[in-house]
Amino acid sequence: MTRSRLVICAATALLFGGCGNSPAPIDAARIESAAPGEWLSYGRTYDEQRYSPLDRINDKNVAELGLAWSFDIAAPRGAEATPLIANGVLYVTEPWSVVQALDAKTGKPIWRYDPEVPRDKAFDACCDVVNRGVALWGDSVFVGALDGRLIALDASNGKPRWTAQTFDPATPRTITGAPRVVKGKVLIGHGGAEYGVRGYLSAYDAETGKLAWRFYTVPGDPNAPADGAASDAVLKDKALATWNGEWWKYGGGGTVWDAMAYDAELDLLYIGVGNGSPWNHQIRSAGKGDNLFLSSIVALRPETGEYVWHYQTTPGESWDYTATQHIMLADLPIGGATRKVLMQAPKNGFFYVLDRGTGELLSATPYVPINWATGVDMKTGRPIENPEARYLDKPMLVKPSYYGGHNWNPMAFNPKTGLVYIPTLDIPMAYGHDANFKFRPGRSNNLGIDMLVVALPDDVATRRAIKSMLKGDLIAWDPVNQKEAWRVTLAGPGNGGVLATAGNLVFQGTVDSRFVAYRADNGEQLWETPTQSGVVAAPMTYEIDGEQYLAVLAGWGGAISLVSGALTANSGSNQRRLLVYKLGGKATLPTPPAKMVQHPEPPPATDDAKTLLQGKLLYQTNCIGCHGDSAQGNNVLPDLRFSPMLQPATWNSVVLDGALQANGMIGFRKFLGDADVEAIRAYVISEARKELAFN
Ligand code: CA
Repeated sequence: MTRSRLVICAATALLFGGCGNSPAPIDAARIESAAPGEWLSYGRTYDEQRYSPLDRINDKNVAELGLAWSFDIAAPRGAEATPLIANGVLYVTEPWSVVQALDAKTGKPIWRYDPEVPRDKAFDACCDVVNRGVALWGDSVFVGALDGRLIALDASNGKPRWTAQTFDPATPRTITGAPRVVKGKVLIGHGGAEYGVRGYLSAYDAETGKLAWRFYTVPGDPNAPADGAASDAVLKDKALATWNGEWWKYGGGGTVWDAMAYDAELDLLYIGVGNGSPWNHQIRSAGKGDNLFLSSIVALRPETGEYVWHYQTTPGESWDYTATQHIMLADLPIGGATRKVLMQAPKNGFFYVLDRGTGELLSATPYVPINWATGVDMKTGRPIENPEARYLDKPMLVKPSYYGGHNWNPMAFNPKTGLVYIPTLDIPMAYGHDANFKFRPGRSNNLGIDMLVVALPDDVATRRAIKSMLKGDLIAWDPVNQKEAWRVTLAGPGNGGVLATAGNLVFQGTVDSRFVAYRADNGEQLWETPTQSGVVAAPMTYEIDGEQYLAVLAGWGGAISLVSGALTANSGSNQRRLLVYKLGGKATLPTPPAKMVQHPEPPPATDDAKTLLQGKLLYQTNCIGCHGDSAQGNNVLPDLRFSPMLQPATWNSVVLDGALQANGMIGFRKFLGDADVEAIRAYVISEARKELAFN
């Protein structure tokens, strides 16, 4: 090495962490074939396999794994991000879209960027104020903020370079997903289909922040002018005829809130499209039509947004069966040939293998118990439905539920074992047609399903029995032979995403606050450590100076946690941190504070049955998303049953007037009257009394 190269190395080391790693800036070639020690995009590489070729930590020595360092997260909300690493710096996002850069070797903070998302935006978030991570390109870091801003930051200091507003923040859309960058275009979608929105994906120029193209996933009002978007032609030619009724008044749905993958050779970008707005097909589309491109995987040209092909997993979806779940690309031996495939385990319970060049269906097999369909017709690619599952005549207990057989928590693929490791869910949920549906623009739970049918049974003993029936497992799935290879039965639903490594290892964090390593070939547990919090995020791994590290974000929260946390095995005080491990790591975590469980006697309230029923319906419609189904609490946000806010004057100041708006609890005076919130209070108090009487 010459002296001048040494000087340059010393200078770049200050900025980027040294010359030992691949040189900056980050481009397509570097993401596509990332160096073994790197993790440069959400799913590590464009194929989103979440497989690391690192094997210094392996099935022989994993028992020596110990904590290297940890970093505390301030916000007590769900932590869903996968950290990225480039040039020795870890970039991780926290709740409320905060970006933190850390020295990957020591955990020393380098910079922090807080977009200061207005806290009342939490009202528009179906599933907590989470963020799943950043994207890297050039020497910029990109984050999508909850309120719709896409922000480019200088990787060296966290200073904003440009900001693009991807949607009107007054609409009930939110960004929770990680952007991806393909061919200099930053790709980002949003959520909001539970509120009533029309979904789209946007592409912004990475240098300037200028909108390059937009692809709407569902048609708008057919009497309005075209969008002038990349989707205009395909929506007119293919999608429009698959819709009926006046869907555009409800938005139609189809949000692109998580999965993307890219094949550079085919030059195809794959996006996963979400559920309908409202969920109920009968209400959304008069019970007719497939409603393209809901619940579909769509292949686009990344430079223009031009449509190439699609595969719809759930035509005329009516159950929140999104196809936004992890999309993963691999080359598999199928039928005597190597096929370039795309794999997905979407909410509807089928594991799909498609030809990623054409969208041809190669296989579709249930990976969890299902009852909404009996199989997929391989000729048409359509599910063979159980007609009762559309809950038109009477309610039905459907599997999978709206949580899916698998939700956003990433899977992983190990090309050596040929197995896909899936964090699965086995949760039945009752669906019933809402005969009294009235669209409530801008508000949550515009679902078209009867929220009293969704509610838990009134009897506490039955609820406890239901809790023991809900399952969450880690399943190793053989996508070629379409069968389970092994399974680990976990403590229940709500477990974290998965990482696969060349060390014959699979890593996963759990609902009951453990970080666990399994043998990739047979599922034998080899190591575990307490995380002091339920883990929902996926782990990642990286190498610096010849040492391999494992990083996982511990932070209980997100959809299952908030709505059904009481039915999970999560307990304890949930200390939220980034945890980083290495062989021989000797760091320790402080003893967590004991969880204070107090059940004070609730104040008096009416026990008039009609009022309680009205309160229950209002609670289920307005409060369930943050405070838990049937007022059962969730170990994230306050359990209202035992809250000091239950005193009438305090209750009204919070619920009607927004005294706690700074925490994300808006005032509901524009939606609810005094009698409404008093009915909710009476219902919550009745639930508190029921709980106290049972214990
Ligand atoms: Ca949804």
